[in-house]
Amino acid sequence: MDLLGILQELQCRLGFHDFRVIEVTYGFGDAGDVEKVECRRCGTTMVREQSPRD
Ligand SMILES: [Zn+2]
Repeated sequence: MDLLGILQELQCRLGFHDFRVIEVTYGFGDAGDVEKVECRRCGTTMVREQSPRD
C-alpha cells in the first residue's frame, strides 16, 4: 500500500497542492505579478496574483 501517495492525494483534495511556478507575467504599474502554477502531484494549474511591490 502506498501510504505516502494516499497522503499526498489527500493533501491535494484538501487544497494543499505542491505548486511549482511554470510561468510568470510581470505586472506593470499598480498591477501585481501573475504567476501560473502547476501542482507537481495532481497537475492542477491555477493563476495567482502577487501583491504589487512597494
Ligand atoms: Zn495537487
